[in-house]
Amino acid sequence: MSIPGQLNPSPRVLLGPGPSDVHPRVLTAMATPLVGHLDPEFLVLMNETQDMLRQVFRTQNRLTFPVSGTGSAGMETCVVNLIEPGDRMVVCVNGVFGQRMTDVAQRAGPAVTTVERPWGEVFDLNQLREVLQRVRPKVLGIVHAETSTGAWQPLEGLGPLCHEFETLLLVDTVTSLAGVPVEVDAWEVDAVYSGTQKCLSCPPGLAPVSFSPRAVEAINRRKTKVQSWYLDMTMVQRYWGEERFYHHTAPITAIYALREALRLVLEEGLEVRFTRHLRNHQALKAGLAALGIGYAAAEGHQLPQLNAVRIPAGADDLTTRKRLLGEFGIEIGGGLGDFKGKVWRVGLMGHASRPNNVLLFLAALEQCLVAQGVKVPPGAGVAAANRVYAG
Ligand code: PLP
Repeated sequence: MSIPGQLNPSPRVLLGPGPSDVHPRVLTAMATPLVGHLDPEFLVLMNETQDMLRQVFRTQNRLTFPVSGTGSAGMETCVVNLIEPGDRMVVCVNGVFGQRMTDVAQRAGPAVTTVERPWGEVFDLNQLREVLQRVRPKVLGIVHAETSTGAWQPLEGLGPLCHEFETLLLVDTVTSLAGVPVEVDAWEVDAVYSGTQKCLSCPPGLAPVSFSPRAVEAINRRKTKVQSWYLDMTMVQRYWGEERFYHHTAPITAIYALREALRLVLEEGLEVRFTRHLRNHQALKAGLAALGIGYAAAEGHQLPQLNAVRIPAGADDLTTRKRLLGEFGIEIGGGLGDFKGKVWRVGLMGHASRPNNVLLFLAALEQCLVAQGVKVPPGAGVAAANRVYAG
């Protein structure tokens, strides 16, 4: 019999597309002893978590809670509850996560129409009006922060446009929530899901979701049962609602973590947090420009928390990422799909969006580039970032 050694992972700076670095207060919360999942004290914690989630989603929606599962479980929850065989759904695809939503939707039985933009670009209302008019879908799904390209999809006006055609608007906010504004009520979003491991700076494992009264009505009008037992909102809401009717055992430690992460977000203040993300992004962008590195997403639509940047000529994708990890403990992401081998994805999410990470990364990247013979002006990246911070 052989027993592996005690758990001892190397220290890392998580600057990839997620998971991001977890705040120490969240780690402490996770080491708190368990109570039962129907303990009266835990029921209070569930209410508090829901209440804080509503504040972070900026919604009054009653049906707001974390699904037990990662972001993809949130995606699947929204799709399978809103859609049944015979329905029509439109999915906007400009990267990997639009593709994933299409796959999830196709398995749920509706007729799925995709509308596409090149990777790195975003959709405009005219293109979406045309497809809504033509297809008249029950649901239109779109990704707010496309993690594979770093593109930031504007959502203002899309909710009212969907409602003109009696379409429900479903939005993926896995990478956007708590990093850039998400206005569920003001934008008239009907179903929204997120994940805990990005700008909330929690470990992966929960998928916050929220459904508008319009979406709840659509769920209540279904002719068929929701295809998934585990993700069926008509049952799960009895657990998260007033009845507290047992459905599944809530992942208690994950909810402790989310509760603490939400406290941190609200203590900092959403606006202050968004400004912090923007400022660190601006410093990083200036530093990368000084090293001759540009962005993959269209100018004006670049996410502050996910910087997808073009790998410069002369640098090898894997060699650079291996060296960053091995020598500096820094994790960044490689490209996915069409961007594989062409793009690096540098996350500055939640707790990880800090000047020390920006400066460390720029200095380390310079060393990795120089080692491969890429000519860069010495110290130019760090100096450019510092000019942004000084200004
Ligand atoms: N949607 C987006 C935009 C994502 O970035 C991700 C994960 O990176 C997901 C969905 C899926 O989330 P998970 O990997 O937590 O299942």
